[in-house]
Amino acid sequence: MTDSNLEIAEVHSKAAGGQRSVISFLGISIDVLDTDGLLERIITFAYEDTTRLVMYVNTDCMLISLDNDSYKQVLNTADLVYADGVGVVLGAKIWGKTLPGRSTGADFMPGFCEIFSKYGLRLFFLGAQQEVVEEAASQLRGKVPDLKIVGTHHGYFKEEETSQIIRLINEAKPHVLIVGMGAPCQELWISKNRELLKVPVLWGVGGLFDFLSGRTKRGPQWLLDNGFEWLCRLFVEPKRLWKRYLIGNVKFIAYLLWFRFTKREFD
Ligand code: UDP
Repeated sequence: MTDSNLEIAEVHSKAAGGQRSVISFLGISIDVLDTDGLLERIITFAYEDTTRLVMYVNTDCMLISLDNDSYKQVLNTADLVYADGVGVVLGAKIWGKTLPGRSTGADFMPGFCEIFSKYGLRLFFLGAQQEVVEEAASQLRGKVPDLKIVGTHHGYFKEEETSQIIRLINEAKPHVLIVGMGAPCQELWISKNRELLKVPVLWGVGGLFDFLSGRTKRGPQWLLDNGFEWLCRLFVEPKRLWKRYLIGNVKFIAYLLWFRFTKREFD
């Protein structure tokens, strides 16, 4: 990709439900849309006859994509990629590109579920430990009693169990399959099995079920709202996440500055 492509490129490609407007940032196409736009787009996708892929990126995802070509390709074949992390929004800004803000599942999902239930959309949850994903479903049902969660399955299964899980999902006939197995595992799984899944929307959500179940605490809202979600997560799970956030954040900033000042091309 040339530098000129990387100018505040509002790339318009036809997508159902309207024009798709994206920026290209570190070689990934990211949709320029806010949380309401995301909801609208998912509802539109849910009623289509085809299968749509919805994915997110945060700084960790961007770093993984720089070293993992398959993941990067899958992100770029998705029908919608939204920014779930202030780092991506600020990083894009350094390149002179504007994203309206971050959309974080743990914030928007209860509200989305109210709307999904009004539309009669059926959801299937795949990912996390079985008791966690069931608790996430139960917490959401507590908030939205009419919500149709037509199945849950943990995300710790063997390759040879995949076809049985896909059968289970297809029989439940969800409009939206929400997959929370962490990046890039969930995106690669979705992409590999997209032809077999008879589901309009395949949506990767990372650690969302841990938050919805209450298993993982998120920290005070003012910190979350001011770009410090990573600090809260680090505080809650330091052993697992210190590398991702302490080394990852420094690496991300270093990459950005390096690419910016050497005007390096991304593809
Ligand atoms: N997970 C899973 N299967 C696996 C590995 C992880 O279902 O083989 C789940 C894990 O239980 C957690 C989520 O995937 O709920 C990963 O969360 P993380 O916070 O790492 O996601 P990300 O930061 O990539 O959004």
